[in-house]
Amino acid sequence: MKILVLNSGSSSLKYKLFLMPEMKVLFSGIVEAIGEEESTIKNHHQAIESTVQKLLAKGIVKSLAEINAVGHRVVHGGVIFDKSVVIDENIIADIKSLIPLAPIHNYANLEGIYAMKHYFPNAPQVAVFDTAFHQSLPKEAYTYALPLELCEKENIRRYGFHGTSHHYVAQQSTKILNKTLSSLNLITIHLGNGTSVCAIKSGKSVDTSMGFTPLEGLVMGTRCGDIDPSIVLYLQNRLDKSVSDIEQMLNYQSGLKGICGSNDMRTIERMALDGDQKASLAIDIFVRSVKKYIGAYIALLGSVDAIIFTGGIGENSASIRAKIVKNMEHLKLVIDPKKNLNHEVCVSKKDTSIQILVIETNEELMIANESYKLLF
Ligand code: ADP
Repeated sequence: MKILVLNSGSSSLKYKLFLMPEMKVLFSGIVEAIGEEESTIKNHHQAIESTVQKLLAKGIVKSLAEINAVGHRVVHGGVIFDKSVVIDENIIADIKSLIPLAPIHNYANLEGIYAMKHYFPNAPQVAVFDTAFHQSLPKEAYTYALPLELCEKENIRRYGFHGTSHHYVAQQSTKILNKTLSSLNLITIHLGNGTSVCAIKSGKSVDTSMGFTPLEGLVMGTRCGDIDPSIVLYLQNRLDKSVSDIEQMLNYQSGLKGICGSNDMRTIERMALDGDQKASLAIDIFVRSVKKYIGAYIALLGSVDAIIFTGGIGENSASIRAKIVKNMEHLKLVIDPKKNLNHEVCVSKKDTSIQILVIETNEELMIANESYKLLF
């Protein structure tokens, strides 16, 4: 059984072809710079066409009929979707209705769905939502302290994102901790270009750092994370900046990049080692923001079985992990420097009560699994 998993971003298309249930990756790739001036690929339809041609030309599949199903990452499921679904016309209408909440992402995801319908009219398609795992948030976690009726009318609430990743690493941790997911309290920390933390109680998301949009929470590669909302109003009123100027700045010119000029943690760590003060400051701010959320979520959860690092930075940077959990012995978090440097799965000291795990995320595999479970 072959399941093609698609992750359509605004200007890129990542794909992976899985043999299921063996969970074997047969082929993967990325089409970048979709729609950009110098690119020959003008839209998602063309991106998928080039992917399809590649699959055929390389003999990965002999005919398109060999693809049994397609799984899509869809960014925003609003309050409509608390789990993955098989896509039909009604689901498409629902995803479309959520475009105002995630204009760039849901639009790109729909483009992917339409193009797949065109190339694989007989293959069922499944949507797996970034927000779905966080639909279990209690009311006090998802409600902002703004006028309640206005928020209800405008669908303003914490949705949370990266749900597929948080859910996947939480599931993987059950094998290491030898417990069922429903018996575990976890703090999952996804540190990639986008970053977020999730508090998981008895296997369910009960709080998360991203909010109404993926802009809230931790400091990210180019996104600011938590700031005083008055800064936005100040910039708008005093400096006469337009809404889209500010949106652009908060999303693409802030975070690590805004502080030190780079959003690549490898580069930033190198710059800091070479004595660059701004790079050191960027790391300190980044680490502090993660630390604060861990403390907050330990307080929320009461007891915690493990914290889990994932994402490009979480999986690969031993020094960032060490800085984050430094001086947290009083919270029962003690890292073992040797295990940490070796990137072992469990990097905490033997007798500490909260385990510190490093688990590689795999959102595509999670999407393939969800599609397989729903369809076959
Ligand atoms: P995305 O959110 O785009 O999927 P990733 O999860 O791949 O991103 O994470 C990208 C981040 O991980 C970048 O900041 C990159 O520098 C960082 N990263 C990858 N490998 C390392 C490493 N060995 N040390 C430090 N940071 C790393």
